[in-house]
Amino acid sequence: MKEKLLGKTPEELREVALKCGLPAFTGTQIAQWMYVKRVRSIDDMTNISKPGREKLAGMYDLGVSLPIGSAVSSDGTAKYLFKVDENDTAVEAVVIPDADRKTLCVSSQSGCKMGCKFCMTGRQGFHGNLSVAEILNQFIALDETFELTNTVFMGMGEPLDNYDNVSKAIEVLTADWGFGWSPKRITLSSIGVIPNLKKYLDGQKCHLAISLHNPFPDERESIMPVQKAYNLYDVIDLIKQYDFTGQRRVSFEYTMFSGFNDTKRHADALIRLLRGLECRVNLIRFHKIPDFPYESSSQVVMENFRDRLNSNGITCTIRASRGEDILAACGMLAGRHNKSEKNG
Ligand code: SF4
Repeated sequence: MKEKLLGKTPEELREVALKCGLPAFTGTQIAQWMYVKRVRSIDDMTNISKPGREKLAGMYDLGVSLPIGSAVSSDGTAKYLFKVDENDTAVEAVVIPDADRKTLCVSSQSGCKMGCKFCMTGRQGFHGNLSVAEILNQFIALDETFELTNTVFMGMGEPLDNYDNVSKAIEVLTADWGFGWSPKRITLSSIGVIPNLKKYLDGQKCHLAISLHNPFPDERESIMPVQKAYNLYDVIDLIKQYDFTGQRRVSFEYTMFSGFNDTKRHADALIRLLRGLECRVNLIRFHKIPDFPYESSSQVVMENFRDRLNSNGITCTIRASRGEDILAACGMLAGRHNKSEKNG
């Protein structure tokens, strides 16, 4: 398989150009075609000579591959499936339009090792890390590419378990020679893989979202095995060492399971845990999945929980459900694809 150009820096692309017998500045031109103009084939790089493009295409792939499936919800949420060549699986990217924003929820791995019990991606097991090209392809291969305003690394996989590729993708997204996005437009969501969380907090200026789901370590561990390796208390201690009063924000994702994590006892423990941290808690309605014992909390219970947090100084909102009619919950569409491939 040929090496992919997508994800390379201008410096790396200058080396590519030299290897192809082209002038070094061609590398800068390739970066512009890929990240600024976002072309879909090497042949579209028309300020490179025809023989130059042929040499380039003989040795490299651009790395752009169009979605193999899509579904659009009645609320405008669009889900796309992308094939992962290495292991013949598929990953999802979801575009969520909201007022003047269009947010891309991007995948970082095919499947996931973390095994959260409420997650369809976790059920599929781990198939591999996405390359930088495969992460960026989810942005570039969409017709909406120039309309995207924000991104959340909240699709399939744990981004901090594929940190090198995710951080390089963030470099391309934020560099002047790349997409030129502000780090404020990017949020990485993690369950709290501490060593790489520290690297992320030290090395990036983007926002952070932590999947919390229960303030009590033993209860959290019963649905999130990662808790054994990386204790939530240590995750919070680490986060409290950083400044979130300025441009960078931290939020906590809290999926509401009836009777499991939605009581006053849980709300009060959450308030104690997050006290002193400038943050937001997002309450998420749960979409029931097979063989998981809990259902979503009711609207009233969620509102009471939200109000208790807000009246105790923790900003809390209930996240609107999007794309319910197209199975937009993480991993559901790709789960279907991967299962039917296996069965077929
Ligand atoms: Fe992995 Fe995230 Fe699913 Fe947990 S919730 S299994 S970290 S994709």
